[in-house]
Amino acid sequence: MYKIPLTKPYLTTDMIKRVQETMESGFWTEGPVVNELEFLFETYIGCGHALAVTSCTTGLEIALRALGIGAGDEVIVPDYTHPATAQVVFLVGAVPVIVDVDPCTMNIDYDSIVQAISPRTKAVIPVSIFGNPINWPRLDEIKRKYSLLVIEDAACAIGSSFQGVRTGYHPDISVFSLHPRKTIAIGEGGMITTNSSRLYDWMKSYKNFGAKYQEKSDLPMFTGIGTNCKLSDITASIGLEQIKQVDVLVDRRRELAASYTRLLEGIEPIEFQKVTMGGEHAYQSFCIQVDNRDMIKKEMRQAGIEVQIGTFALHRENAFHPSPMCKLPALPHQSLNVFERTLALPMYHDMTLFEQKMVVNALVKLIRKDS
Ligand SMILES: *Cc1c(COP(=O)(O)O)cnc(C)c1O
Repeated sequence: MYKIPLTKPYLTTDMIKRVQETMESGFWTEGPVVNELEFLFETYIGCGHALAVTSCTTGLEIALRALGIGAGDEVIVPDYTHPATAQVVFLVGAVPVIVDVDPCTMNIDYDSIVQAISPRTKAVIPVSIFGNPINWPRLDEIKRKYSLLVIEDAACAIGSSFQGVRTGYHPDISVFSLHPRKTIAIGEGGMITTNSSRLYDWMKSYKNFGAKYQEKSDLPMFTGIGTNCKLSDITASIGLEQIKQVDVLVDRRRELAASYTRLLEGIEPIEFQKVTMGGEHAYQSFCIQVDNRDMIKKEMRQAGIEVQIGTFALHRENAFHPSPMCKLPALPHQSLNVFERTLALPMYHDMTLFEQKMVVNALVKLIRKDS
């Protein structure tokens, strides 16, 4: 047990009550609560449709299938991300093409996308890492010029926006995670958003055994392939109570981030993740860059403060070594540097200023000791 944990899911008695009510209602699979959660999600994003699934990972895989991406196709992904971003490309039989990230925003580097485009490139999966939004106009320019599809891995990005437009609105398809480390957390779950009714209908049917309901019949017809990636009303009940609080939750994270920044400002050589210019960060994680990250991580954890690495640099992992199934057009130097230096600091809704100061004091002591 840590004195100060990395994260704590937001939990209220309303959520527990709601889960109990759902359990007593007998609706244990997808039903009215999932539908209401989808409705509140699409209203919040301002997009046409939201579709609940079992995780962000299954959602990304479904998105690739809905867009017809498969064998022979290439999909560009950033190197600095959760492995799921690239694993899903393998799952549909396509080839991930891994490119570098911007060292300041830690998001995919737009020039590296252009350099990696080949006649086989079908799509890009940008990641709004830790809740830092992608620069949509910049990406959209590339999308139009090269006729690419965009599936956003918005796992961390509920509440972030670019020029006032919420993450999840613009891309062909975006996918959010409802994992306990994310701002809206139900256990395991994901949410797909899109403005396309055609894609929405396909994905809704695919995640429910390929079933299609006719108006005049209560029995579905099965006209294509499908699987089961339905969310349960039981866990959706948690999300329903959280999404009603989403502005409060995201504002609180922004306050905590501002407070960390004030406490750490001027302490060399700490660097902050730079917010995408024109965007609003949602701080699923608050990450800094430091020298000697591994030593600092180890000693802070020993002192009872649960810090963590930011995320992974895919090219370091065996699964993503260059091969005919996985392309690495250039060594992602920036990503490696970001990977080695990034440290995620504890952040949760009810974190106090006193706890933040404890984190900062422990960190500063180690930085001074190191230099
Ligand atoms: C958490 C995360 C995922 C995985 O989400 P699941 O809901 O656990 O499948 C994928 N991509 C990124 C960037 C993440 O942070």
